[in-house]
Order: sequence, then C-alpha cells, then structure tokens
Amino acid sequence: MDEQNYTDLLKKVKSSVQKREEMKRFQIPKPETITEGKLTIIKNFRDIVDVINRDESHIYKYLIKQFGLSGDVADGRLIFKGKPPEGSIEKAFQEYLRIYVQCYECGNFDTEMIRENRNELIRCKACGAERPLFAHKEIKYSEGKIDEGKTYDLEITDLNRDGDGISIKGDTTVIIPGAKKGQKVTVRIDRIRKNYALGILVKKT
Ligand SMILES: [Zn+2]
Repeated sequence: MDEQNYTDLLKKVKSSVQKREEMKRFQIPKPETITEGKLTIIKNFRDIVDVINRDESHIYKYLIKQFGLSGDVADGRLIFKGKPPEGSIEKAFQEYLRIYVQCYECGNFDTEMIRENRNELIRCKACGAERPLFAHKEIKYSEGKIDEGKTYDLEITDLNRDGDGISIKGDTTVIIPGAKKGQKVTVRIDRIRKNYALGILVKKT
C-alpha cells in the first residue's frame, strides 16, 4: 500500500469512528416526571425540546396523541391530564427521534424537517440524504400487559422487515405473522421473549 492510500484509509477510519462517537453522544435528557393528583408533569420538557431541535408544539402534539391524553405546556413543563403507562414517556421520545429526527442513511440527528410540495421530508445536514416522513408509521402505545397463552384484540399498526404484523401492547411488541397493517385481529400469545412476543392470528375482525 502506498503512502497516499494509507493516509486515505486512516482518514476513512477516523471519520467513521467520529461519526459513531457523535451518534453515541446524541442523548436527550432523561424525562423528569412528577405526578400531582391526576396530572403527570414532565418538568424538563423544554430542556428535552432544545436538544431535539424541533418545534415544541409538534413534539407536544405527538406525545399527547401517543397516549390519548389531553394536556398543556406551561413554563417549559409538559402537563398530561392522566398517566401514561410506566416507562412509556422515554420510549415515546425515542420513537419521536426515530420518526422525525434521525437520518436513516448515516444515523445522524442533525437534520431538518422541510416541506416540499405537499410532502414533509427529513433532510440530513451531515450527509444530505432526504426521506419522506411517512417512511415510518407512528406506533401507538396502549395500556396493559400480556400473558402467554391468553388472547387479545389488537390492531396491527406496522409491519416488520419480514412483513409480519406488529402491534404494541403495553411495553411489548407483539409480532403476528400473517396479519396485515391496519387490521384488527384477535391474537393468542404463543411465546414471550425479552423484547417481543410472538402471537398467533386467531381471527380477523
Ligand atoms: Zn445523513
């Protein structure tokens, strides 16, 4: 290998390491929540919004829609009228980042949301890649826990890479082979694993 090639290679390695470091470094503040009576309050909402770098009301609307609650933003705090499921607030922020912020080409979070004709796009400031916003469907969270062997009525909100139906129940992603997006189905839970559950399609409704 001549010297020029070696220098190029070093540069390449360096820049890919840097990229990975940047991605790792991108972290939103942990949501600090308190409850006051029936209200759940994210005390540091504005701090999180500042890091995400999207419109405050856009993030707010996304969150209340996810939980099916009403709410308010006041003094940099987000107030839910009700209680989102345990652990779901942080997940919802991560999901927001995945849908509205992250570049799917290079993984960077330094992106902007733009409108072109009637389509909303995410444009990466690092690599220039663009993607339409509807590339990923929003996942709705629902209350509740699942048990092996029991049946549940679920709505298929997305498909995984293998084309299997996906539904979120509480904290669990249920994978249902043979189910199609948008279907309402009755599913028997066959197996529960650490990160997901496998459901058997019993009935389409
Ligand atoms: Zn990119």
